[in-house]
Amino acid sequence: MKSGEGSAPRILKGIPVSSGVVIGKAHVVETSQLKIVYQYLLDEKHVEMEVERFMDALHTTGEQLKKLKDSMPEPIKSHGFIIDTHLMILQDSMLREGTVEKIRKEQINAEWALKKSLREIRRLFEEIDDPYIRGRIDDVEDVADRIMRNLAGQEAPPLGDITQRVIVVAHKLSPADTSEMDVTKVMGFITDMGGRTSHTAIMAQALKIPAVVGLETATQFVEDGDLLIVDGTAGEVVINPDDSDIIRFQERQVLYQEKESLIAKSSQAPAITKDGYRITVRANIEFLEEVGTVKEYGGEGIGLYRTEFLYLKSRGLPSEEELFLDYKEAVEQVAPDPVAIRTLDLGGEKLTSVPGSLNEANPALGLRGIRLCLKERDMFRTQLRAILRASAFGKVRIIFPMISGVQELMDAKAFLKSIMGELDEEGLGYDPYLEVGIMIEVPSAVTMAEVLAEHVDFFSIGTNDLIQYALAIDRVNEHVAYMYQPFHPAILRMIRTVVEAGDQCGGRVSLCGEMASDPLCTGLLLGLGITELSINARTIPVIKELIRSISIEEARKDLHEVMKLPTARQVREYLLERMNPIIEKLGINESFLNTTQVPMG
Ligand code: PEP
Ligand code: MG
Repeated sequence: MKSGEGSAPRILKGIPVSSGVVIGKAHVVETSQLKIVYQYLLDEKHVEMEVERFMDALHTTGEQLKKLKDSMPEPIKSHGFIIDTHLMILQDSMLREGTVEKIRKEQINAEWALKKSLREIRRLFEEIDDPYIRGRIDDVEDVADRIMRNLAGQEAPPLGDITQRVIVVAHKLSPADTSEMDVTKVMGFITDMGGRTSHTAIMAQALKIPAVVGLETATQFVEDGDLLIVDGTAGEVVINPDDSDIIRFQERQVLYQEKESLIAKSSQAPAITKDGYRITVRANIEFLEEVGTVKEYGGEGIGLYRTEFLYLKSRGLPSEEELFLDYKEAVEQVAPDPVAIRTLDLGGEKLTSVPGSLNEANPALGLRGIRLCLKERDMFRTQLRAILRASAFGKVRIIFPMISGVQELMDAKAFLKSIMGELDEEGLGYDPYLEVGIMIEVPSAVTMAEVLAEHVDFFSIGTNDLIQYALAIDRVNEHVAYMYQPFHPAILRMIRTVVEAGDQCGGRVSLCGEMASDPLCTGLLLGLGITELSINARTIPVIKELIRSISIEEARKDLHEVMKLPTARQVREYLLERMNPIIEKLGINESFLNTTQVPMG
C-alpha cells in the first residue's frame, strides 16, 4: 500500500470487463507520465523543423502499430482490426493536418498543437448521443498518447518485457498495450480509466485474462508487489487480502469456473424447450468486431446488424466499398448462419453530415430510418448496393426500419429491385433470393401487420421503439422513464397481433428489442408464439439455457393468465413469481435481470 495516500480502501470497485478471478502480485506500470504538456512558441525559422518532428512522430507511431499488429499473439490475431482502427485514426485529417496547421499558424510546439487538436476532437465526440461511439474517443486518445510519447522520445510501458506472473496495474492501457502482454505472464489487469465497451476490454476478453477497469484510484492505492485479488466477473479488486478474503475468492473462482464450463458446454447446443420446440437465438450487433463474441456465445447468426456505426464514425458518408467490405466480412465470418442487415436507421438529429438531416423539434417522429433513406436516394443506393454485393458471399437478409405502412414498404422494395437491376447490368453478383423483412416498431405497422406480412419474408419486432411509440414515452427522456413499460398489456397485445399476422402468411417473426434479452420475458415471449429471438451476444447462453427449462405448453398457460392482468405492474409481479424459481435454479446472475425493469412506483 502506498504511504502518504490517506487511509486506503481494501476493496476497490470498478467495471468488470473480462471475467474470472485471479490472485497474484501487482506490477504497476507508469502509463500516465505524459499528462503534463508544455507550450512554447517557436521562432519562425524553426516552424518547419517542428512540422517535420511531428511528421516523424506520426511515422514512428505508424511503424510501431504495424509491428504490434504483425506480432499479435494467436488468441487475438483476429482482433488485428483494432490496431487497424488506430492506424486509420493516425490518418485522420483533424489529428494530422489540423495539428500541422496549428504548428504553422500559431507557431507553437507539436505537443501543444496536438493537445489542442485532441481537445477539438473530444468536443465533437461529446456531442454524439450513442454511448458506444462516444466512448471511441478512447481510441483517439490512445493514438495521441503514443504520438506524444514518440515526440518526447519516451518508450512505451514495457509490457512485453514482464518476466514473472503478475497482475498489471495501470492508469490506462490502450488496446495496443494490451496486445503486447504475454498471457503466460500477465494473469490479469486493472486500470483507473476505461469503460465496458473499450477496445482494451475487447482485447482482454479475447485473451481470456480477468480485468477490471474504471477503478479510478487503483494506481493511487496499489504498490508494486502488493498481493491482489482481481474478480473480473464482479468488478472487484482486493488489495493485500487476508486469509478469509482468499478463501472467499477461491470459492468464487471454483463457482465461476463451473458456470463457465457449463456455458461453454451448452452454448453451442440448440435451444429446445422441454416439450421439444426449437427456438432460434441470434445476436444483435453494432460493429463487425462483435462477430467473434457472437460465435463464441453460441449465436445462430446475426438477427440484427445495426448499421449506423459506419455512418457515425466517418465525418463524410462511408463509401460503397467501405460498407461492402464490412458487410462481406461479417457475412463470411458468420456463414453458414445468416446476417440480417438493417438499413440505416439514423434520426435527423444524430448526424449533420448525412444529407437531408434536419434540426427537428421531434426527431423520433421526424425524418429517420426508412423515411430519410427514401428521401436521400443516393445514400440509400450506396448502402443497398453494398448489402446486395455482400449477399454473394453468404446468407444475407435485409431489414427495413421504421416501416409505418404498406406504401413505404412497397417504395423501399421497388428501389431495392431497381438496384438489383443496376447490378445485373454491371454484371455484379448478389443473391437474388435474399430475404426481405421489416422492423415492426411503429404502432401503425402492428395494425397493418396482416397486410404487410403478404409482402415480406419476416418480421422483426423492435420493442424498444414500439414501446416508445405505442405508449408515447420518449425512450431517452428520464422524466418519463418510469412509464416506459415493456410489460404494459397493450404491448403484449401488439406482439400477439404481429405473431398471428406472421403465422397466417407463413412468415417468421423474431423479436430483437431489449425485452428479448431479459430472462424475465423469455417464457412470456415463447407463450406469445415468438420462435426467434435476437439478443445481446453475452446473454445468449443464459437465454438458451432458460429456454431449455421452459415448456411451451406451460408458457401458453401462463400467457393466458397474464393476458387477464390489466396493468404492467401486475404482469411483472406474475412473471417474477413464475420465472424467479427457474432463474435462481439456473444461477442466473443479477446483472442479467435489469434489462426490462418496470418501476414499481
Ligand atoms: C428496437 O427498436 O427495438 C430495435 C431493436 O432497434 P433500435 O434499438 O436500434 O431502435
Ligand atoms: Mg428501433
